[in-house]
Amino acid sequence: MSEHIAENIAVIQGRIENACKASGRDPGEVKLLLATKTVSAERIKIAFSAGVTLIAENKVQELKEKFEALKDFPHTKHFIGHLQTNKIKDLLKCEVACIESLDRLDLAEKLQQRLEFEDKTIEALIQVNTSFEESKFGVSPEHAVELVKQVSQFDRIKIKGLMTIGLFSDEIERVRKCFRLLKEIQRQIIDLEIPNVEMNELSMGMSGDLEAAIEEGATIVRIGTAIFGERIYSDSYYWNENKN
Ligand SMILES: *Cc1c(COP(=O)(O)O)cnc(C)c1O
Repeated sequence: MSEHIAENIAVIQGRIENACKASGRDPGEVKLLLATKTVSAERIKIAFSAGVTLIAENKVQELKEKFEALKDFPHTKHFIGHLQTNKIKDLLKCEVACIESLDRLDLAEKLQQRLEFEDKTIEALIQVNTSFEESKFGVSPEHAVELVKQVSQFDRIKIKGLMTIGLFSDEIERVRKCFRLLKEIQRQIIDLEIPNVEMNELSMGMSGDLEAAIEEGATIVRIGTAIFGERIYSDSYYWNENKN
């Protein structure tokens, strides 16, 4: 599989461009983020050589394991998994630029405390559960605006937008509804003009649904399988670790 990473990236970049064209968007508005869970540092470096340097992990343990091997290669790291408060310290050591999965007040509080202590700031996206599935993390759509307001009071956390995982379904119109909902929540928040809140980023769309996500306004698409191949672990291992 490794030998196909560069080719797969080219295919994905083509899909992003086509989706942008189809919806009259500038491809420069859409960032390709590599979801690198279970992918070794060696294989991530192949992706760097192919020119993609925005990556994200789901587990602090994996961030730590790959940190040394990747630290000399220029890249940007996001976090897209369920974050437990007792892992904040370790996460910050790994130089994560943005936590895309901020989904609750107590996590924001603990994060703010630790950031103050270390005299750092961090970017964040608020994760919204737009598919209403029990098994997924994320603040419920009806509480998203309130959470953004609350987190905006933490000066160390710079909110940049929203993130969601769409419904898993072959019925793309049902998946699209999730993306539309995220866009709608973004509009509501923009209208409120909340201090310390930027709403430019919408992280949505994965290997199977990136076209719909881009048509609905994604600025970050998170791609794993289509670039690195199938994973051995089921995604539920990453997405509902304390719900298993
Ligand atoms: C794994 C993962 C992705 C990528 O999914 P693929 O279907 O492999 O492209 C995107 N977002 C999150 C939060 C993930 O955990």
